[in-house]
Amino acid sequence: MRLSRGQNMLVSEVVSQRNALDFSQKDLEGVIFDIDRYAIHDGPGIRLLVFMKGCPLRCSWCCNPEGQNFSPEVAYFPAKCIGCGACIEVCPEKALRFQEGKLVTNWRICRHCGRCVDRCYADARKLFGRTITVSALMEEVFKSIAFLTNSGGGITVGGGELTGQATFVSNFLRSCKKEGLHTAIETCGYCTWGALSKVLEYADLVFYDVKHMNSKKHKTATGVPNRRILENLKKVSTRPVDLVVRVPVIPEFNDDEENLSLMAEFIVSQLNLSRFQMVELLPYHKLGAFKYERLGRVYDLKSLEPPSDGKLHILRKIIESYNIVCHVGGLNARS
Ligand code: SF4
Ligand code: SF4
Repeated sequence: MRLSRGQNMLVSEVVSQRNALDFSQKDLEGVIFDIDRYAIHDGPGIRLLVFMKGCPLRCSWCCNPEGQNFSPEVAYFPAKCIGCGACIEVCPEKALRFQEGKLVTNWRICRHCGRCVDRCYADARKLFGRTITVSALMEEVFKSIAFLTNSGGGITVGGGELTGQATFVSNFLRSCKKEGLHTAIETCGYCTWGALSKVLEYADLVFYDVKHMNSKKHKTATGVPNRRILENLKKVSTRPVDLVVRVPVIPEFNDDEENLSLMAEFIVSQLNLSRFQMVELLPYHKLGAFKYERLGRVYDLKSLEPPSDGKLHILRKIIESYNIVCHVGGLNARS
């Protein structure tokens, strides 16, 4: 096949970009559960989103439950199943059986070994989570690099929680910076300062989640208290990196006016605002609810409805009354 002159230039560009990689880090491995190539809500321009697997929180509204566990896990897509039974034959735990014509997984004894995934020709079983090296991930970046650079975009790393794999992420971001790409991270902030500062070193922009100012309520809904998160946020604000505070607006949990006022008060009184950009309110949605069943889990918020436009308007006005820029955001990596 002959390449056009333009295609040849593109190939030589990619080759030189590959050669620019720091190959001393090429074998460093991380575990990701997804890559999204053309995202527009998680930083300037077109973004390539990398989803790191594993998170120390268990937010009941999480729309990426497949990213919560640090190890790979199997999901089942019943609409694709043709009922061949091949998976049952290979399961070493005897976790699969037919019941009234339907395949049933006993998730309590499934060890997520992935044998059923390899055997299923209908793609009805899928393993979330794969190991990847920094250089292999950079290969993924190079496939989209023209879109990223021409749009003024870049890379956003989220999850899960990226600080659980801080060394890998730091090296990946460093490789992205070498290519001249804008880099953003999204964090829940529940980590050691050492891990967070490691990834901050090569980040241009941080999306920092703040969920509730009351530590007990925070723990009830996420599984962890908020003190470390708020302390880390103060430290992040002193670093030379742009900062956006993201607040998932979850009805009946954190959408009261007192909580929003306390958040705004904290921002203006406790943070260094020199690189602080804004608060983004991310309205609760149910788009991830169907994933829970595929993973053999229960979605606890089935009856919860998203906040109304009127409610979001009131909350935005509260934040703005503290002279803070406030946007109501769209769908993004973590909401
Ligand atoms: S992933 Fe679970 S269901 Fe599938 S073969 Fe392994 S133990 Fe059995
Ligand atoms: S191998 Fe796949 S298609 Fe066959 S029964 Fe199992 S899940 Fe269904």
